Amino acid sequence: MRLSKIFTIVTFVLFILACLPLAWIINGEWAAYHSADEGLGSIQIAHLAMVAVERIATERGPANALIGAPAGGGDREKLRVARLASDRALQDLVTALSPSRSVYHRQALAAIRLARLRLSEARHDMDRAIADPAPTAAEIMAPIRRMFDVVPAVLEAVNALSFQASSVSPQLSNPLSGARLATELREYAGRLGSTLTPSLAERRPLTESEAKEVFILRGRIEQLRGTIRLRLNVPTTRPVQLQALSRMENQYFHDGLAQVDDILRSSRRSQPHAISPAGFTNAYVPTLHSIVELRDTMLSTAADEAAIQQRAAFRHLLAATALGVIALIAQLALFAYIRWLIAKPLLAASKLLSDIADGKLDTEFPPTLRKDEIGDVLRAIAILRRNNREKRVLEQERQRLIEELTEVSRIDFLTGIANRRAFTQAAHAEIAQARLTRESATLILFDIDHFKRVNDQHGHDAGDAVLIHVAAIVERACREGDLAGRYGGEEFVVLAGHGGASSGEALAERLRAAIEESPCSLPSGLQLAVTASFGVATLNEASSTLESLLQAADRALYAAKRQGRNRVVVAKN
Ligand code: GH3
Ligand code: MG
Ligand code: MG
Repeated sequence: MRLSKIFTIVTFVLFILACLPLAWIINGEWAAYHSADEGLGSIQIAHLAMVAVERIATERGPANALIGAPAGGGDREKLRVARLASDRALQDLVTALSPSRSVYHRQALAAIRLARLRLSEARHDMDRAIADPAPTAAEIMAPIRRMFDVVPAVLEAVNALSFQASSVSPQLSNPLSGARLATELREYAGRLGSTLTPSLAERRPLTESEAKEVFILRGRIEQLRGTIRLRLNVPTTRPVQLQALSRMENQYFHDGLAQVDDILRSSRRSQPHAISPAGFTNAYVPTLHSIVELRDTMLSTAADEAAIQQRAAFRHLLAATALGVIALIAQLALFAYIRWLIAKPLLAASKLLSDIADGKLDTEFPPTLRKDEIGDVLRAIAILRRNNREKRVLEQERQRLIEELTEVSRIDFLTGIANRRAFTQAAHAEIAQARLTRESATLILFDIDHFKRVNDQHGHDAGDAVLIHVAAIVERACREGDLAGRYGGEEFVVLAGHGGASSGEALAERLRAAIEESPCSLPSGLQLAVTASFGVATLNEASSTLESLLQAADRALYAAKRQGRNRVVVAKN
């Protein structure tokens, strides 16, 4: 596998390995943030449910005041407003719960449906009792009890929602259950007032069952009071909660219950009540606000705490995400740096080495300034490359010299035509070919006549000039396929191909005539007549090799010399 590919895979795998714990941490922080957020939302919804309980309890006040009161009293408007307030509170709760996001929400919604049903029935009965000018105690208590029955259903919703808020944020359970207890306390305090209504309306002492119910309600109220105090008797209780508790003690448990005690006292003495139902409601109900205040204080404390938790969770989430992103970017930057520092130059070095091996030495190669091992490798490659380039130049020079030497070794230095060796080589091949194809070949050997005299009389340079002059005539006379060379001293040789014996002889004759007819111009300006004697031998059975042809031609040449020179003699077989 290529190094670059391995590097990419390793980078990817390490990146994923870094992402996994990061995702785990961010997910944990997100879950903490989400649960804090949900806790806050649950408190808000639980508060709505508690408000609904309170509104329904409040609605009983004007209703009770109207029972047995003269028709057309001003309290009807109060009842209408109170009913509107309970309806709105229930509607707000239903809206907040829709769409339901959990099993607690669904439980709460079911409880509210039941509560609405009970409420509408209770209001119906209540309207009938109000319309009755002289209802009996039983007729008064029946709709009041039905109104009581609405509350447990809504309290069920309160419980479900408080439970949900406590389950997502356990530290909220103390203020939440305190608020729930205050809601219940408000309810029982309201019921206590409602229980007294028939006796006030009928201006009579409490019946035995009414007295018993008042007794039970007082007990329940005291029990709730004790539990609430216990809840608040912890170090984390805030001063604002303690202040709300003390206000409740003063306003409800002191002033509010004093009103109840007055009625109970006059009832026990069988004295007529000094207060009407409306008068009692006006005096008693405002004291209940202190309970609602305590409830709201506890709820707002819980909400504050949830908001603090939510903000802290958000900060942690933000910090974890930012740190994670920074860590990933740093990791990627590190990989990129390592790639740039090691992998990239290694890849470049491997490419350069491959190029050197392939003989590609001309690509650009900027010098490296790096002082580390990679720099050493790159510099070593540069040196290797330079050496290879120099070696290539030397190799080319050597090749050129070899070619030059080969050329020199084949050419006669003085005349520029083939020397004896080159001629012999080429002639061997020609003769072998001619024998194979059964074609003819004629060898002409000629020697300049009395050449020694030229040297002697005109100097060695004049002799050289004659040799050059004769070689030029030979070259001009020869056609393609003829081989010509200087055989040695003032002897020349020609192998005439493809023309048969007669054409070889004719060529010899043409050469002889050309030499005779072209005097040589010496550097001194003298025109020197030159002749030559020729021996001609043709390829045949007797003379089938170059050596035998040369011998035959040499004999014929010797004969030509003897016969008086400047002539052509054909060898006889
Ligand atoms: P013949 O007609 O019998 O051939 O007489 P000749 O004088 O030509 O014969 P000989 O072989 O005695 O002389 C050949 C001479 O050629 C001898 C040598 O000095 C001369 N010679 C050989 N090579 C060269 C050369 O390269 N340059 C010059 N100037 N002379 C050469
Ligand atoms: Mg000679
Ligand atoms: Mg000679």
